[in-house]
Amino acid sequence: PSMTRGVANEISIVSWDDIGGLKDLKKKLQQAVEWPIKHSAAFARLGISPVRGVLLHGPPGCSKTTLAKAAAHAAQASFFSLSGAELYSKYVGEGEALLRRTFQKARLASPSIIFFDEADAIAPKRTGPGGNSGGNATVGERLLSTMLTEMDGLELATGIIVLAATNRPNAIDAALLRPGRFDMVLYIPPPDVEGRYEILRIHTRKMKLGEDVDLWKIAECTELFTGADLEGLCREAGMAALREDLSANSIRNTHFQAARNSLNPSLTKAVVDEY
Ligand code: ATP
Repeated sequence: PSMTRGVANEISIVSWDDIGGLKDLKKKLQQAVEWPIKHSAAFARLGISPVRGVLLHGPPGCSKTTLAKAAAHAAQASFFSLSGAELYSKYVGEGEALLRRTFQKARLASPSIIFFDEADAIAPKRTGPGGNSGGNATVGERLLSTMLTEMDGLELATGIIVLAATNRPNAIDAALLRPGRFDMVLYIPPPDVEGRYEILRIHTRKMKLGEDVDLWKIAECTELFTGADLEGLCREAGMAALREDLSANSIRNTHFQAARNSLNPSLTKAVVDEY
């Protein structure tokens, strides 16, 4: 059952195998997130203090959210998700209250992973050089200070790891990047040809493909497509087969070609180069 975002302890059923490409990245996340939870005794024995926060950044649609869910699932941890933008838009005080409540719930349900989407929204509003919005702390300032307090408090709590995602890493407040907070920063790149091939394989797992479908060829002609774009392309190929013949038994190469021609990648070279 889907529950309200923000207060939800979502049951996450995404596994590492549901994520195409990103082999090294998955390994890093396994060690940083899955190990401290699953092998906490080993960390204690060797006196290693686990990473408390991991910041994932990169263009939209390239699996930041999915990676966080997979990490939670693999660690068998409770998963809490919050949107920075959503916190920011709440009534005075409500965003901070929700933030505190979520950390509280995560402590009770530990081991837990708290995932912050659009984490860049948790920052003071920049009002220009030297600018300050006046006497009252801005929404962003209050959210940031609550976030810092909660993250610093994790020192005493074991089994809670905070993952945050942003498309705008430069907008993340420097205070969040100090040691003991988000001390691991990982770039999630758009998929390369091999990654795209694996993503296409994942999203066609349940589809009936004709023998003439060559997913590698499709991977080659989908540069700048994100994982989300490729997922859409697979669906569109299936729809093309159905539009042609509602009693079709398989999705053929022509349908993938038609889908490819009708869709544009959501990334551009210029956007990717900015990261
Ligand atoms: P945003 O920044 O827009 O929140 P995101 O980086 O968090 O995006 P996701 O929400 O994880 O991206 O991905 C969107 C969808 O695209 C997912 O539902 C997933 O099915 C698909 N997807 C993206 N990347 C991959 C991948 N590497 N392998 C398989 N599926 C992927």
